[in-house]
Amino acid sequence: MKAIYGLIRAYFICFLFGQAFANPYPDPDLVPSEPTGIRSLPGSEGRSVDLKSLQKESLRVSIAWNQEDGSYSWKSAIYEMSGTGSLNRKAKNFDWRGSFRGVLTAEDGTKYYSSIGTGYTFRSLVRDLSFRFPGVDGLLSFDLYAEDSESGEIKHALSHSFESSTIPKLAPIEVESRMLEESSSDDFLLVTIYADGYKAFERGRFFRDAAKIPGIFDRYQFPARSKLSFLAVFAPSNDRLGTAAHKGSDIKPHDSFLGLYYPYWRNFGRWYHVVYPTDELKYRRSLASAPYDYPIALIKSSEYWGVGNYNELTAIPSDNSKFGYLLMHELGHYLGLNEEYEGGGKTELEFAPGIAEPWSQNITFATSRENLKWKKFVLTQTPVPTLAYRWKNASKGPWGLYKGGYADSDKKRSHKPGMQCVMSTGDRFCPVCSAAIEAKITYDLGGFELSK
Ligand SMILES: [Zn+2]
Repeated sequence: MKAIYGLIRAYFICFLFGQAFANPYPDPDLVPSEPTGIRSLPGSEGRSVDLKSLQKESLRVSIAWNQEDGSYSWKSAIYEMSGTGSLNRKAKNFDWRGSFRGVLTAEDGTKYYSSIGTGYTFRSLVRDLSFRFPGVDGLLSFDLYAEDSESGEIKHALSHSFESSTIPKLAPIEVESRMLEESSSDDFLLVTIYADGYKAFERGRFFRDAAKIPGIFDRYQFPARSKLSFLAVFAPSNDRLGTAAHKGSDIKPHDSFLGLYYPYWRNFGRWYHVVYPTDELKYRRSLASAPYDYPIALIKSSEYWGVGNYNELTAIPSDNSKFGYLLMHELGHYLGLNEEYEGGGKTELEFAPGIAEPWSQNITFATSRENLKWKKFVLTQTPVPTLAYRWKNASKGPWGLYKGGYADSDKKRSHKPGMQCVMSTGDRFCPVCSAAIEAKITYDLGGFELSK
């Protein structure tokens, strides 16, 4: 009966939302396609790498979210070899972004910070919140601060103390890793590309697909590009992603390496255009097969979809003709940026209705120049707010305070810097987003960046 109910519900949801939100947004007819014939060159699939030279121990904390009463509870902690030199450096600097913030206090009083997730829906999509810290030991205490789903205020939600000797170490997971491109900088960030939905016989295909990615960062003139190293990690999956299906009220772990699937358990309108972990602990265990700063799930799929969420995931379909655009747009979300397009239903990156100002760098509820977080990009002769007719093009702007962005969320208050950007349907990042990405990379490298 439950199964039949699930099927009926799935058809009803697909019918209802298929009508209301027929087009995925950003509209695939508007966003740039890959130049035809782009393929990685033979031999560009990188070289074998001994991960030990890159890995640092990290301590991962998992907090469960209870949907029934909205409470948080301690779930587990584990030491794993997913850390990097940059993670160790950045963790000592407070991260004011993220809707869920973890603070680890060591015995000597040193504090380590980790933030994750954009908006309150995030809790119901991942269900377990994961925070990564350097692999410190001794008597440790953890505090969770979470966005209130009504007021948007960040409030203390949980404290837990524990002794590091009671925490297990994650057993190594066998994967094949290849270094696609190495930064020449001493301080760098690891962009680690994971195979998901590739069968064992598609190993070669995965490495060729992954090898296209560094070139896309070049084409989009990605900020601080020289600070990035690219690592590709393969492990076979039993199941492909396939097309979105509603699988009933119980969440079934998807049998792929990372276990990512369309979040049918959370109907926010566009669940079939994104993927989230069906089992957050499995997702994190698989990521921990290699060190990472920016994990990218490359999923064997030709459908048009994509997802990015702050410090949680970037996932894109390997075989879609909008591959490069989707990669840049979704990685923008991973770095904190929000939508600069309108329509398509509410975004799952929506903040609580009572929030005074979204922490995403490229949307604002401000109405005056004085309070505008990107005012340094707005010429004094540009009126604020800025009416749409003033917009010329991506080269000339003018950058200002235009009504829009944030998909269909809070349409009365949301404003954006311009009318063209990768975070809408453009083929380059606007100056506000470029500066935001550069600042985030500075922070993630261990530099201190506090400007809001
Ligand atoms: Zn932008």
